[in-house]
Amino acid sequence: MLDSPRNLSELDHRTFRTDEFWRVIPGWKDVSAAEFGSHLWQAKHSIRKLDQVQSILGDRISPSFIEDIAAGLRIAPMNVRITPYVFSLIDWDNPTDDPLRMQFLPIASQMLPDHPYYMADSLYEDVDSPVPMLTHRYPDKVLFLPLTTCPVYCAYCTRSRIIGGSTESVDKDTYGPNPENWEPAFEYLRTHPQIEDVVISGGDAFNLTPRYIRLIGEKLLAIPHIRRLRYATKGVAILPMKILTDNEWLDALLDIHRRGRELGKQVVIHTHFSSPREITQYSLDAATKLFSEGVHVRNQAVLQEGVNNSIDEMVLLTRKLSYMNIQPYYVYIHDMVPGCEHLRTTLWDGVQLEKNVRGTTAGFNTPTFVCDAPGGGGKRHVASYEYYDRENGISAWSSPNVKPGELFLYFDPLHRLSPEAQARWNDSDSRMAMIHDVIRRSDYEISEKARTKIARRLEGGAVATGGKR
Ligand SMILES: *Cc1c(COP(=O)(O)O)cnc(C)c1O
Ligand code: SF4
Repeated sequence: MLDSPRNLSELDHRTFRTDEFWRVIPGWKDVSAAEFGSHLWQAKHSIRKLDQVQSILGDRISPSFIEDIAAGLRIAPMNVRITPYVFSLIDWDNPTDDPLRMQFLPIASQMLPDHPYYMADSLYEDVDSPVPMLTHRYPDKVLFLPLTTCPVYCAYCTRSRIIGGSTESVDKDTYGPNPENWEPAFEYLRTHPQIEDVVISGGDAFNLTPRYIRLIGEKLLAIPHIRRLRYATKGVAILPMKILTDNEWLDALLDIHRRGRELGKQVVIHTHFSSPREITQYSLDAATKLFSEGVHVRNQAVLQEGVNNSIDEMVLLTRKLSYMNIQPYYVYIHDMVPGCEHLRTTLWDGVQLEKNVRGTTAGFNTPTFVCDAPGGGGKRHVASYEYYDRENGISAWSSPNVKPGELFLYFDPLHRLSPEAQARWNDSDSRMAMIHDVIRRSDYEISEKARTKIARRLEGGAVATGGKR
C-alpha cells in the first residue's frame, strides 16, 4: 500500500540544498566546490567499478553491503555508472533504503525473480522498427536511438537489452554514435511526410558530442515536415554541471534551438528526474539557465517501489520540478523488463498517486501517469484500462489509434499480491483461467488475429525473449 501523506508543508519544495554535501564522502572530503561543480571533474570521477565504491567510501560502507552489491551486479542487466553528484547524495548511513542507491546500485538481497511474462523488449521497440535505431509506432512521431550509452546507468532501464553495456548475465549489441549508421533513419524520416516529431533518445544526448548534437539537429530540422525535436537526457538530473560548465555542448544545443525558432520549429529537452532527492541548487541553477535561454524542459519519471511510490515524494517531485520551470510531463508505470522486479509497483499505486497528485498544483504541471502497454500498445493513461483484476494483478488495455483490435496485458509484480493470488499464479491452469477471465471481461472488441496472438504469447509460458525482427 501507499504511505499516507504526512502533510507536506506547502513551502517544502522551495528548499534546495546548497551545502557541500560531497564532503561527507571520505574520498572527496577535500574536493572544492569549484572542482565538484565542473562537468569534467564529474565525468572523470564517475564510478564504473565496485572497487571504486569501496575506495571512495572507505569504512563508511560495510563489507557485507559491498558483497551485497557485488552479488547484485552478477545478476543485474546493467553495469555500474554513477556521477559523483548522485553518489554523494546517497545517504550512506542507510544505503539499504536510499532511493538514489536503489536506482543505480542494485543489491542482491532486494532483487526478485523476474515475472513469468517479462520481456527484454517489453515495449516492442525492435518489433515496431522499420530501420535500425528508429521505432515508428505512432502516426506522427518517432523514437530515434543514435547511441546506447548514458552518463549514468539506471537499474530499471527499459532499454537494458541494448543500454548499460554487456554484463555477466547479458550480452548486448551496444553502439556508439556514428553518423554513417544514422543515414537510414534520416532517409526514412525524409520519405515519411506524416512524421512531425522526433524523440532523440538512446542512450542519452549528454553523451553526444557538440558536433553530433548539431549534426542530428541540422539534418532533422532540414526535413520540411519535421516540426518538433526533443533531445532526451537524464543529464539535467544527474549531471547538472554539464549545463552550467560545458559551454561547447550547451552552445551546440542552443544553436539548434535558435535554428528551430527561425524555422518555426520546437526544440526542447526531455529529462528524467524520478526522485526529489536528485534535486539541489545545482539542478535549480541548470534549469534556470535553460529557462533563461528559452529552452523548454519536460520531465519523465519512472514509478518505483521504495523510490517514489509515496504521495509525499511524488507531490514534492512535482512541485520542485514546477518551481524550476521543468514541466512534469509523464510518470511511467514500470515496464516489465528483466532484473528490476523489486522496483516495479502495482498499477493501482499509479492510479492512487494520479488521484493524489492532481489538484496539488497547476494542471499544466500535473504529470500524466501512464502505462506503456507491453507488446507495443503505446502509452495509456493509468485509469483507462479495459479491465483490471486488482486481486490477481492483471490489467488489459486497448489502443484504438495505435493497434486497433488488439488487447495488451500488464501484470503487477507477484510479490505485491496476496498469498492466495500468488498461489494461483504458481498453478498454470488457474493462471490461464485468471488471464482469460480478464480478457473476457474487457469491454473491447478484439480481432481474431489479435486473439490468436495473445493466446500464443500466453501459452509460450515464460515469455522471456525480446521482440526479434
Ligand atoms: C514515448 C514514445 C514516443 C513519444 O510519445 P509522447 O507521448 O508524445 O511523449 C514516440 N515513439 C515511441 C515509440 C515512444 O515510445
Ligand atoms: S538514462 Fe535512460 S536510457 Fe540511460 S540507463 Fe537510465 S533509463 Fe536507461
